Amino acid sequence: MYQKILNEIFNEVNRLNLQGKQADYIPELAKISPDKFAINLTELSGKNYGIGDINDKFSLQSIAKVFAFTLAYKLKGNEVFRHVGIEPSGDPFNSLIQLEQEEGMPRNPLINAGALAICDVLIDELPNPEQDLFDFIKKIAQNNTISYNPKVYQSEKKTSYRNRALINLMKSFGRIHNDTEAVLDLYFKLCSVEMTAPELSRTFLLYANHGKLPGTQEQILTSSQSKRLNAIMQTCGFYDEAGEFTFRVGLPGKSGVGGGIAAIHPGKYAVAVWSPLLNPKGNSVKGMKALELLTTKLGWSIF
Ligand code: GLN
Repeated sequence: MYQKILNEIFNEVNRLNLQGKQADYIPELAKISPDKFAINLTELSGKNYGIGDINDKFSLQSIAKVFAFTLAYKLKGNEVFRHVGIEPSGDPFNSLIQLEQEEGMPRNPLINAGALAICDVLIDELPNPEQDLFDFIKKIAQNNTISYNPKVYQSEKKTSYRNRALINLMKSFGRIHNDTEAVLDLYFKLCSVEMTAPELSRTFLLYANHGKLPGTQEQILTSSQSKRLNAIMQTCGFYDEAGEFTFRVGLPGKSGVGGGIAAIHPGKYAVAVWSPLLNPKGNSVKGMKALELLTTKLGWSIF
């Protein structure tokens, strides 16, 4: 059933001739072919269904913020909420406005300011932050080959004016403990993680499986933590378009400016979509349409 629906969606979305633009503020991302398009769905059992460019790796960008937050939440429990809030920002992912008004406390862990604060927590908590974070990502992906793209990392680092402004503003409020360069470096490596659509949907099964790894059933987050993280994805995963995504798709999910979106239906499946063409809010145009069609055709969303 899933494969037939994915094939239909792929063809329908392609016929719509939707317009968008690659993220060009990170020059390396602007080089990706605009025609790339992949949809991949993995059931809790591990059964996989995919169509399109499912063998291409793409830059996860903000989707990877979910993995950093997962590790920080696992390590610190509710203490992590002394560093980031849980409210949607209603602002673009790299906005500075609330940060000034709210004394450097990021609204949530999925905007850039929040993910930078989480990278600062990870540097505090981990003996070897980069190695330990990447080991954790490999563990939840159940895939030892996962890594970051060095060209994207360099490209982000060179053009990181906004992220530097965000972290310096937080530092001025005494909210960042570590050297800002070290925090930025970890954040750029995190955003440059790359996966194929099947690798991404398999990794997101964790959040569809109440915090347990598929297969081994190892508990990574408690089921309460997993439920709460899903709530944060639902309300904050698409920045100032979280309402639109909830309205049209009805699943918790996370987007990235590499054009990927990962979403889950708890107890059923995880799905990853990739097309680099973004709308003005930085979310994949084809990705949002494909997921809207998925929950419409299936007749199920979490609502
Ligand atoms: N690395 C990107 C940035 O820092 C992530 C943004 C995103 O994917 N929304 O701007």
